[in-house]
Amino acid sequence: MQPNDLPTPSNRIACPECGNNEEFYEIADNAVITTLYTQNDDGSFTPEEDTSQILGDIKLICGRCQKNLSMFHQRFSEMLF
Ligand SMILES: [Zn+2]
Repeated sequence: MQPNDLPTPSNRIACPECGNNEEFYEIADNAVITTLYTQNDDGSFTPEEDTSQILGDIKLICGRCQKNLSMFHQRFSEMLF
């Protein structure tokens, strides 16, 4: 990787309140988490399907000062790998 390929600070989300650019929480207000299990012959269970449905807003919160950073959430989503 060439040095020029490294992300520049302008590509990084930083909290305008405390400058934190490392730790962020994503909080879903209202989520329904449904997991389908099949029971095995020995009585154990194996998860087959995990369906999470988020009904409410998703917030992005600073991991240090808890400031609401939801204005960055779209960019955050695009940068998830
Ligand atoms: Zn902060």
